[in-house]
Amino acid sequence: MSSAYESYGLSSRVAEMPENQIARIADLARNDPEVIKLWIGEGDLPTPGFINQAAERALKDGETRYTYSQGLPQLREALARYHQRHWNVAVDPSRFCITVGGMNALMLSLQMILEPGDEVITPTPAWPNSLEAIRILGGVNVTVGYEFDAAGGMNLPLDALFGAVTPRTRAIFINSPSNPTGWKMSREEMIQLRDFCRERRLWIIADEVYAHFVYDDAGVAPSFLEICAADDRLIVTNTFSKNWCMTGWRAGWAIVPEGLGALLSNLGQYNTTSIPTFIQHACVAALEQGDDFIRYQVERCRASRQVLVEGLSRLPHVSVFAPQGTFYLFFRLDGVSGESFEIARHILEQAKVGIAPGSAFGDGGEGYMRICFAIDPALAQQALERLTPCLIAQGTLSKSA
Ligand code: PLP
Repeated sequence: MSSAYESYGLSSRVAEMPENQIARIADLARNDPEVIKLWIGEGDLPTPGFINQAAERALKDGETRYTYSQGLPQLREALARYHQRHWNVAVDPSRFCITVGGMNALMLSLQMILEPGDEVITPTPAWPNSLEAIRILGGVNVTVGYEFDAAGGMNLPLDALFGAVTPRTRAIFINSPSNPTGWKMSREEMIQLRDFCRERRLWIIADEVYAHFVYDDAGVAPSFLEICAADDRLIVTNTFSKNWCMTGWRAGWAIVPEGLGALLSNLGQYNTTSIPTFIQHACVAALEQGDDFIRYQVERCRASRQVLVEGLSRLPHVSVFAPQGTFYLFFRLDGVSGESFEIARHILEQAKVGIAPGSAFGDGGEGYMRICFAIDPALAQQALERLTPCLIAQGTLSKSA
């Protein structure tokens, strides 16, 4: 426990929280207008006007009082239509629970299933918040590494994932497409995992927040909802943050098995009671009128992805994993010694580009860097031009050291 906290008698699980490495690097230059900021997971576009207007209308209409803990019925119905439209799945509105973003969806899901000491298996490198949520709740993190190959591919070895299961395992957490690696699980792998979890009576927690951001083919990433039954031990977590540039609205959703919606809603009552009522009206507008905006954003990401993948792949000493999904580019500086945090700091100072150090993403992340490319392709080009000489110098310096 950090000595600064010792005298207060805090929960050790809270006092031991590690410092967030992305916040640490961002704090060095948050307000520097010269820096191209590609460290945080959000797009550079504003929330579309029609969503803002729906919130303004709801405020004018006095939608400012307590409401259903589970979420407005019309919002859960709009979510059911959204899933039908994009994945062709029929999910009953009673299975949705509206949450304070994807993070709260995950925290509630874990609260619902974990006993202290239960193990949750997570492929890593991973979004750090999921690992911390498990630990804060008294769960035990078991991690399984992705396999990276020099040809730019990435793979999750299912035999290693299944081999990590013990009698204490309660759940397997899958984030596909994955932050930070850009890996996407195939439908065949999902079916294998579903069958394994059915047999072992394990939960699958599926974080599908980047499902629309896929680049190998048209459409969406496969969802566990397509292959699981309504009574499987599956919780899907999702958010309004990424699809509609609504990171500051704090709105998301969880989908639980049939019959558990009321339970999760009751649990939500003791966490946040609900999300703000007028924001839920804006969320209905995002779902009902926001498909074109998603397509626009994904095409923009596709163009920026191409600029950065092509540009960085040409550099010596840089191994780029061309992401199948998300809006992150994960790369390694080969033969470069030093901690990724220090390298990110150096890049920030020399190139004025803010990127996230791989050490922020848990086991296996050290040595890598992550760039968010949900930006204007012209800005991606500018970032590439700044990064190129800096990365070449990094490689050359290390070689001669
Ligand atoms: N899941 C993943 C993998 C993420 O990367 C994020 C945000 O970066 C979230 C969930 C949660 O998003 P939010 O809480 O902003 O809705």
